[in-house]
Order: sequence, then structure tokens, then C-alpha cells
Amino acid sequence: MKPELSVIIPIYNEQEGLASLFARLYPALDALQTSYEIIFVNDGSRDNSVSLLAEQFRQRPEVTRVVLFNGNYGQHMAILAGFEASRGQIMVTLDADLQNPPEEIGNLVAKMREGYDYVGSIRRKRQDSAWRTVASKMMNRLRERITNIKITDQGNMLRAYGRNVIDLVNQCAEVNTFVPALAYTFSRKPTEIIVEHEERAAGESKYSLYSLIRLNFDLVTGFSLIPLQIFSMLGMLLSASSALLVIYLLSRRFLFGAEAEGVFTLFALAFFLMGVILFGIGLVGEYVGRIFQQVRARPRYVVQTILQDGMAQAQAEAVPYVRLEKRQVAR
Ligand code: UDP
Ligand code: MG
Repeated sequence: MKPELSVIIPIYNEQEGLASLFARLYPALDALQTSYEIIFVNDGSRDNSVSLLAEQFRQRPEVTRVVLFNGNYGQHMAILAGFEASRGQIMVTLDADLQNPPEEIGNLVAKMREGYDYVGSIRRKRQDSAWRTVASKMMNRLRERITNIKITDQGNMLRAYGRNVIDLVNQCAEVNTFVPALAYTFSRKPTEIIVEHEERAAGESKYSLYSLIRLNFDLVTGFSLIPLQIFSMLGMLLSASSALLVIYLLSRRFLFGAEAEGVFTLFALAFFLMGVILFGIGLVGEYVGRIFQQVRARPRYVVQTILQDGMAQAQAEAVPYVRLEKRQVAR
């Protein structure tokens, strides 16, 4: 029998926090009185997480499945692998570090049962460092302007998705993507609720400044061409104004004679324009890089093993993900 609810959790070096995650997650789901499965996706952890997950699987094999990657492919790839393995009608994603309280899953499920196919969440009071909260708010606003995706709180992974949405997500072969935004584009009736947010229970954030910047590029250039268009328009504007400048300087030349001053102003202008040009080339490079990765068509991630119940295995043969895996190898 397929469960109603699939909970998907990406795991990367989370050994310190897993015990307390298990201790809160299972009771919270048992309390919901519905059939569920929990899919842990190990994203190539180098610590003890795998053996902790395997032990937990032995404790509750009927509701636990563990997908093991052969390397680190990133949080969003891990979630996508979880989606492909999932069999529920409602998929819920959350972080392993207990920043998303498992007790909130019930509220998401309740909202889904009202007929929505995408339930996002907004953190009541975000418990992250001040600079991340501020930077994330600014990016959030900019991204909303550029991509037309209405997600109030983009950095938060605690969300629920309907089967119709996830079936479409599973058909996408995008290499670098941002799961909540991708799913949002497929949803027919999205909504959001407010949830609690806690400080990281143990261990530290797996995102460096670099990976956060990369993630934001995935969000903006992965979902919109507007940055390119802004650049073309900026280019037109600059050409027009430099044409005016040329006319002005020419007429000055004939009225008052040659001038040699203002050299440093010229430098400043030239450097500024060079900066603009370099940024533009970099931006084009972002899109070209994406195209390159996409046409190379390597498997997005490699699943080494899946730990699951014998029963679950038999059912899985009958449902999509085994087939999907084959397709990925074929590509
Ligand atoms: N994660 C992952 N692969 C990665 C980085 C992170 O699977 O390469 C997982 C991590 O184990 C956690 C979730 O993604 O469950 C969110 O990571 P983290 O809490 O470090 O991010 P933050 O809360 O700082 O945004
Ligand atoms: Mg976290």
C-alpha cells in the first residue's frame, strides 16, 4: 500500500544532530494517524551519518527508506532523488538540523488536505545569523521582481507538495535547480503558512558564502532571462549617452579649442564601464555554463544503494523510480 505522506530529508554530515532528529520526527509523524514514509537521502556524508541512518532503518524498516549517493551533489539534488523514490500523495521536505520543527508537518498536511497542491512556509522568526537574514531578505525581494515566483521566504525548505506537482518535477532534467521555485512553477493552487524556526540543533551550516551565492544564481538565472534583458537595455542606454557625450565634446572642440584636462574623470568613467562590461560577460557566462552542463547530460546524481523493506522493494519495482534510474544511466 502506498503511504499518504512522504517526508524527504537530505543529510550531509549531520551525525551530531541525527539522534535528536529521529527522537522528534518519528513521534510527530506517528501522532498524525496517517500512513507515512520517511526518505533520508545521504548526500555523500563523510562522517558517521550513514551508519546512524542504517541503524535507524533497522529500527523502523516499515516507514524508513534511505537513499545513499556515492558523492556530494548538493541539497537540491538530494531532494530530487528523494522525490523520485517517494510514493506518497503529499511530499514534505525539511532540513535535518531541526531548524524546521517536525511538529509543523501536521500543519502543512492539514493545509494540503484543504485542496492546495503547494504549501510554502514563512518563518515566524528566523534563527540564523544577522547577516544571512538581511542578505537573504534583499535577495528574496530582488528575485521576486526578476522571476515572478511568489515565494515569501525562499531560504526555507519546510514545504509540502502534491503528487501532481512532483510528477512534473520528476520529469525535469535540470542540472542546477532550486526545488521550491521549480515546484512552484508547476503548482495550480499554491499557498503559504507561517511556521516556527529554531536554531541549528547541532553541527554547523553546510553552506559557505560561495555556495550561497551559487544557489542564488541558480534561482535567478535558472528561472528568468530578465538579467540578460536588463543588460541589453543598459547597453543601449550607455551607447545613447556616450553618443550625446561625443556630440557635446565635438562641438566644444570647435567652439573653445582642444582640451587636455579631465584625464582622471576619463579614467573613472572608463573603469566604471569596464566593470559593467565584465559583469555583463560574467552574466552571459552564467547562462552559457548552464547550457554547457545541460548539454553534457551527465547523470545529475548517482544512487549507490537504497535501503528499504523487502515489501517496499517489490512495490518500488512497480513504480517509477527504478525506471527513472535506468533512464538516467542510459542518458
Ligand atoms: N545538505 C545536503 N547537501 C549539501 C549541503 C546541505 O544535503 O551539500 C543538507 C543538510 O544536511 C541539511 C540541509 O541540507 O539537512 C540544510 O543545510 P544547512 O542546515 O547546512 O543549511 P542552512 O540552514 O544553513 O541554510
Ligand atoms: Mg540549517
